Amino acid sequence: MTADSAHAWLVAQVQADLDGARVVEIPDDWSSQRWFADVDAEFIETWSPARVIAECEAKLERLERHRPREYALSDGYYCGVCQRGPWPCAEVLSDAAVYADRDGFPEELKKFHTSM
Ligand SMILES: [Zn+2]
Repeated sequence: MTADSAHAWLVAQVQADLDGARVVEIPDDWSSQRWFADVDAEFIETWSPARVIAECEAKLERLERHRPREYALSDGYYCGVCQRGPWPCAEVLSDAAVYADRDGFPEELKKFHTSM
């Protein structure tokens, strides 16, 4: 998998989470106790669909800024924001770690980043 396709795979995972959160109808009287009486109500309240949407949108913005860019004079990719070492940078690896258990997780995103 190339850096571009690994990046596209990761963006697709975040977009799928965002799409999933957006289809949830949030009632005006959202109450975790009403919907999830047997689980930690405060946790559910914190991670409402609105919160998931905000998290995913922020992650997509970060992934756009930290997308792979090809070196002009050699093979490989770098991050135009971090500009240290090859892509993926530590920012992308942190976002990718959330999806490590999903099918198709790219090898490129498993790299251990020593500059963290
Ligand atoms: Zn970066």
